[in-house]
Amino acid sequence: MKIALFSNKSYTQNFMQKLNESYGHEIEFFEDRLNPETAHLAEGCGAVCAFVNDELGEETINKLAAGGVKAIALRCAGYNNVDLCAAKKHDIKVVRVPAYSPNAVAEHTIAMILALNRNLCRARTRVREGNFELKGLLGFDLSKSKVGIIGTGKIGEIVLKILKGFECELYAYDPYINEECEKMGVKYLPLYELLQTCNIISLHCPLVKQTHHMINKDAIDKMCDNVMLINTSRGALIDTKAAIEGLKSGKIRYLGLDVYEEEEELFFEDLSDEIITDDTFARLLMFPNVLVTGHQAFFTKNALEQIADTTLSNVAMVERGEQCPNQICPKCV
Ligand code: NAD
Repeated sequence: MKIALFSNKSYTQNFMQKLNESYGHEIEFFEDRLNPETAHLAEGCGAVCAFVNDELGEETINKLAAGGVKAIALRCAGYNNVDLCAAKKHDIKVVRVPAYSPNAVAEHTIAMILALNRNLCRARTRVREGNFELKGLLGFDLSKSKVGIIGTGKIGEIVLKILKGFECELYAYDPYINEECEKMGVKYLPLYELLQTCNIISLHCPLVKQTHHMINKDAIDKMCDNVMLINTSRGALIDTKAAIEGLKSGKIRYLGLDVYEEEEELFFEDLSDEIITDDTFARLLMFPNVLVTGHQAFFTKNALEQIADTTLSNVAMVERGEQCPNQICPKCV
């Protein structure tokens, strides 16, 4: 099938081209984000391939349909940026990559915990400047630390498995108990009790209406003093302004973020020559005990291979008229 791939990056193109050797699709790569202004670039293509910050609202989809597009292949799991009912109206199939590498995200979470605890970013800067002073680099043993995981699905479970190796005390909150976690000795607690108990808290639940700003002022007030908070899930799980207050008061001693609630305006682009106008984000960057990465937790070669393979296979199934297990079927009235 002829595919117009949007939001292209060199790494995306490398993996797509390599994996496509066994699928034989014709792929046109566009660096532009997909939106109503760029939808015309897909004219004559059977499918578009889109990523997390592409805009697939009704207007874009109407234009894609008019240009002959029959499939939207998302190279990610989330589909909050797609108007599924508009796609259904035009009989456009929407397919996605439901899971790529939960290990990648879990391992990045652990990297953030270790880097924050042992002040690795500060230590690297100091040593490069010939400063070998240890003051300000004091960490704590992870062994016997109380770690609370919110959301024990695929990623949360792997984080817990790794932390078991560090001999942490493991706690979790999830509306659904994962038996594998219970078997490894994880103790499920109500959310408020987890917040009061743990000195490291890591978020691994989806962003839905009920979880939007679940870490707000009230939740932060309940936490232990000097807590470490990690979010590699979705930015809006945390009320960033409340987290900043928590950092200023010292309640939050360490904050690790791979995601940010207004990240669409920032992440995945090189803005090094530009002025950051988001004052909340700029304030976060000023704290020495905050580590921000730009939504890179998924970014391993294993995950990119998996994303490319599943995406190209999804398109092939749609082209052959087969029922694709990764198709999203909306309930539209
Ligand atoms: P999953 O669906 O396997 O697990 C999510 C878990 O969250 C489930 O066990 C579910 O019961 C639980 N949950 C739902 N509502 C909850 C609530 N209100 N409170 C607590 N737990 C709740 O998902 P996953 O593959 O483990 O991914 C977790 C999250 O990681 C995703 O939602 C996504 O936002 C994020 N993610 C981030 C990256 C990245 O690069 N940073 C990459 C992939 C996924």
